[in-house]
Amino acid sequence: MRTLDSHDIIATKTPGILVNTYHLYADLGRKILSTFGSIREFMGWDGALISDSGGFQVMSLAKQYHGKITDEGVWFNLNKKKKVKLTPESSIAFQMELKPDMAVVLDDFTPPQAKEAEAKDTVDRTILWAKRSKAEFERQCQRLGLTEKTRPYLLAVVQGGKWQKLRAECAKRLVKIGFDGYGYGGWPIADNGDFDYLSAKIIAKHVPKGTFLYGLGIGKPEEVVSLVEMGYTIFDCVLPTRDARHGRLYVFNAASIKQIDVHAPDFYSYYVPTKEKHYADDSPVSTACDCLLCTHYSRAYLNHLFKIKDLSALRLATIHNLRFYSILMEKLRP
Ligand SMILES: [Zn+2]
Repeated sequence: MRTLDSHDIIATKTPGILVNTYHLYADLGRKILSTFGSIREFMGWDGALISDSGGFQVMSLAKQYHGKITDEGVWFNLNKKKKVKLTPESSIAFQMELKPDMAVVLDDFTPPQAKEAEAKDTVDRTILWAKRSKAEFERQCQRLGLTEKTRPYLLAVVQGGKWQKLRAECAKRLVKIGFDGYGYGGWPIADNGDFDYLSAKIIAKHVPKGTFLYGLGIGKPEEVVSLVEMGYTIFDCVLPTRDARHGRLYVFNAASIKQIDVHAPDFYSYYVPTKEKHYADDSPVSTACDCLLCTHYSRAYLNHLFKIKDLSALRLATIHNLRFYSILMEKLRP
């Protein structure tokens, strides 16, 4: 969400945000957080809020930068002096201090190149950690006096990579422990470079009706459309904000919001201001959008802001892309 504050996010009609447990644990810490009472109060955010578990950083930071993973937990080597240890228990305990609507249990991310035996190990550890996370969650709820009505939802994450048998096994074993929702975790891209829809389907097939399905780190607009059809309703992804900062804007191929058909093939395209030749274009980036950028400024002005590297270019583009995604979700809502 870089370049935006809470008010900007609300204006894009984005109903909820995700906060990153690992980064808040390492960079903010409990002491400052306890002064404010919750991450919502710290950020001035009133909307829905998920905290992740730090599970993605198990893969992106610990596994790549010589951290250590054992059954006990994960050690991150931030630098020579600073090591951070995250266990299933400390992840849950810290998330309960963040006070989210939904908390996620720590999982062991199956690396995309994992052979079957290694993938099986990550599933076993994911299950072990899920059990310990749930026990810690119940302890915390009791300690804080939270009831079934006032406690956050607790979501588990299905691992197993491209190994479909392992995905099914992981989902079944997590369901046995019992959670409010289940996430499609790990790397969602198949060996051929296509999105791995099969794993998403297997997970959806094995979780009980009435529980949440969550696509972690997903995804491109067409992937979101397909997963919503399978029953997924929660997504988090860096694409809209990161693409915006790189000058890539999502635009519906429609003249107005009303005319958008997210089930049509090629229902959107990219608009890249820096590649634009028509610098005098006075039309908005999209007429099928009601964001701050599209209702107040022209393509020419945005091009100019990107050209002179004005920071407001990043903010306006981010606002636009978030509104693109919130319109997408509005169109997919039954
Ligand atoms: Zn817009």
